[in-house]
Amino acid sequence: MKLGKKISEGKTKIVYESDNPNEVILEFKDDITAGDGLKHDIIKDKGYLNAAISAEFFRILNKKGIPTHFIEFTPPRFMKVKSLVMLPVEVVCRRIAAGHLLKRLPIKAGTNFKPGLVELYYKDDEHHDPMINEDHIRILNLGTVDEAREIKEITVKVSDALAEYLTSYGIVLADLKIEFGRDKNNNLVVGDEINGDSCRLWDEKIEGKIYDKDVYRKGAPLNKVKDTYIELYKMLLKKDPKLG
Ligand code: UDP
Repeated sequence: MKLGKKISEGKTKIVYESDNPNEVILEFKDDITAGDGLKHDIIKDKGYLNAAISAEFFRILNKKGIPTHFIEFTPPRFMKVKSLVMLPVEVVCRRIAAGHLLKRLPIKAGTNFKPGLVELYYKDDEHHDPMINEDHIRILNLGTVDEAREIKEITVKVSDALAEYLTSYGIVLADLKIEFGRDKNNNLVVGDEINGDSCRLWDEKIEGKIYDKDVYRKGAPLNKVKDTYIELYKMLLKKDPKLG
């Protein structure tokens, strides 16, 4: 895989040009952040583990006919994807009440949502990523109200497809966050990454056992955080990771 010019760099990924103008290459970094980036660490191999898990999740979605940017994973940490113009929106689908929701509304932890509860957030550090609705999408010129509905429908499909897949590994998908972009034909496509950094993944049988970034958010030592990512990799990919 030939890396072209660096296009941009975020907290956890670098985007490069590829030899095809319709495709870009993502590099998954070893950085881990939480709390608007206030907490930040480096965990060796985290980029590799997350890239591999993301690739697996995107393969499941592509097989289900859900439009995603994923084309190919090149170990250890590169992913070839369709070039998208990303929307500055985070779309959360909650299947079980957890996290920030419990602080905002009188909803009990563990409440089940069927169908999944979908929320839209505008990515804007200055305003701390406020929650928005379909009308805000229109007013902010991000898309039409119908497109906002399409985003919500695709998000429920993503959540259902991954929940079905994960349950076969004994993992419960409590919630997830995804991001969308537009391809060259203006179609809405699932982009970015999906892995333990952007999902709540709980053991089906062992109460309190989690396989996601909440381990880091809650302040576990970095070796424990790394072990969690390794554990998830092993469960989903059914092999040992080739750690550097
Ligand atoms: N999430 C994310 N990035 C964010 C905020 C949330 O990936 O900037 C994910 C988070 O990992 C969880 C889901 O979105 O799986 C719902 O998170 P919530 O709104 O409860 O916020 P949190 O309590 O995680 O800050």
